[in-house]
Amino acid sequence: MREIVHIQAGQCGNQVGTKFWEVISGEHGIGPDGRFDAESDAAQSFNKELLLERSSVYFNEAEDGNFVPRSICVDLEPGTIDVLKGSLMGRMYRPDNMVCAQSGAGNNWAKGHYTEGAELVDTVLEVVRKETEACDCLQGFQLCHSLGGGTGSGMGTLLISKIREEFPDRIMNTYSVAPSPKVSDTVVEPYNATLSIHQLIENTDETYCIDNEALYDICHRTLKLSQPNYGDLNRLVSSTMSGVTTCLRFPGQLNADLRKLAVNMVPFPRLHFFITGFAPLTAAQSQAYRSLTVADLTQQLFDSKNMMAACDPRHGKYLTVAAMFRGKMSMKEVEDQMLSVQNKNNSYFVEWIPNNVKTAVCDVPPKGLKLSATFVGNSTSIQEMFKRIHEQFTAMFKRKAFLHWYTGEGMDEMEFNEAASNLVDLVSEYEQYQSAEVEDDMQEIGDEEYLD
Ligand code: GDP
Repeated sequence: MREIVHIQAGQCGNQVGTKFWEVISGEHGIGPDGRFDAESDAAQSFNKELLLERSSVYFNEAEDGNFVPRSICVDLEPGTIDVLKGSLMGRMYRPDNMVCAQSGAGNNWAKGHYTEGAELVDTVLEVVRKETEACDCLQGFQLCHSLGGGTGSGMGTLLISKIREEFPDRIMNTYSVAPSPKVSDTVVEPYNATLSIHQLIENTDETYCIDNEALYDICHRTLKLSQPNYGDLNRLVSSTMSGVTTCLRFPGQLNADLRKLAVNMVPFPRLHFFITGFAPLTAAQSQAYRSLTVADLTQQLFDSKNMMAACDPRHGKYLTVAAMFRGKMSMKEVEDQMLSVQNKNNSYFVEWIPNNVKTAVCDVPPKGLKLSATFVGNSTSIQEMFKRIHEQFTAMFKRKAFLHWYTGEGMDEMEFNEAASNLVDLVSEYEQYQSAEVEDDMQEIGDEEYLD
C-alpha cells in the first residue's frame, strides 16, 4: 500500500488537521476509539471492504486492530496540543507523535524557521523517520499549516526543506492557510506568508491554497453566519480536504496517488498552487428546501463564490482542473454536465493543454450529504491572492516596519527582498501563461520546428 505521512504544525495546522482526521475517520467507519464501528453511518451504507480497502494510505493498523492516524502533531507552545490531548479525537493520535516545546513562536517566522523551531526540528524528524520506516511504500507527505503565524509557517517550511533533503523523490503536498485581516489582526502576517511562499515555490510539489479571506466570505455571504469563528472556517476546510483526498482514500483510477495528481495538475514545476471549491454550500436554514441535481452541483462547483481562495477564475485561465463527484449518480450525467460547462466557458481554459479537465466519481458521499463535489483548479487567477499578500507586504516593508523582530532573530533583510521578488516572479509567470501571446509563441515554435 502507498502510505502518506501527515504532519500538522502550529495552532491552525493542528486545528485544521484534527478536523480532517475527524471527518475521514467517520467516512471510513472508524470511531474515535480507533475501531471499525459497524453501527456507524458509513458502515450501515457501505461494506467494510470498500471502506477499509485503502485505509492504510492514512491509517496505521495497530496490533490490536485499532486504526491510528499516521499523523505527527507539532507545536512550539503547548496550548493547542494540550486541548487536543484532552479531546475525543486527540486520543486517536499516537502520544509519541505529539512533539511540543514551551517557548512559542510569537507569530514570528524567524523564530519558527531559524531559532526556536530549529531547536525542535531534529526531534520531529526523528518521529518522521520512524513513521516512514514502518511504511510499506511511502508515497509522500502532507503538511497542514498556516502561512501567517510563526510555527506552522516558519517551522513548517523548515520541516519541508529538511524532509525534502532526506526524501528527495517523495511527493511533498501542503494545505496552506493564507492570512486575511478579516479573520486575524496580527499585522506581520504578510511578512510571514511571503517568507513561507518563497519556500513553498521551491520545495513543494502540490500546495492547496486555503485562503481565510475566502473562507470568511463564504461563511458570511453564502452560509449567512454573521460572525464566523475558526470552527466554521475549519468545517469548510475539512469538507474540502475530505473531497480532494477522496481519490487517494477510496478505490478508483483518477489521481489515485499524490504523484499521479501532480503529473496531471502541474504543467510547470513552480506553478503548483491550487484553488479548491466545494458544492453544495447552502445556509443551514435553506438546506431543506433544495433537492440537488448533478447539474446544480457542476454549476456551483465552477462558481467563483464557492472557491476557497479569494480569486476569480474568470479573471484568469485554467491550466488544469480535477473534479471529484461523490454519491450515487450516473457517470454519464456527470460527464455530460462537465463537458457542457467546458464548452460554454471555453475561453477560461488554456487551449494548449488538451483534455485538461479530469473527472472522477466515488460512490461514498461525505457524512450528512447524498451528493457532493470537490474541485481542484490550477488557475492563473491565483495570482490575485499572491498580489494581495504582496501589496500588504510592500506597504510595511517600504518603511521597514517590524523588521527588527526578524533581524533580532538573526535574519538578514536580504531574505525579505528575495522572498518578495520570488513572489513577484511567480505572479508574472502566471500572467505570462494566461496571456494570449503565449499561445501564439507556442504556435510559432511548433511551426518552425515543423518547417525545419
Ligand atoms: P502558529 O501556531 O505560530 O503556527 O500560528 P497560527 O497557526 O495561529 O497562525 C496564525 C494564522 O493562522 C492567522 O492567519 C489565523 O487567522 C490563522 N488561524 C489560526 N487558527 C486557525 C484555524 O483554526 N483555522 C483557520 N482557518 N485559520 C486559523
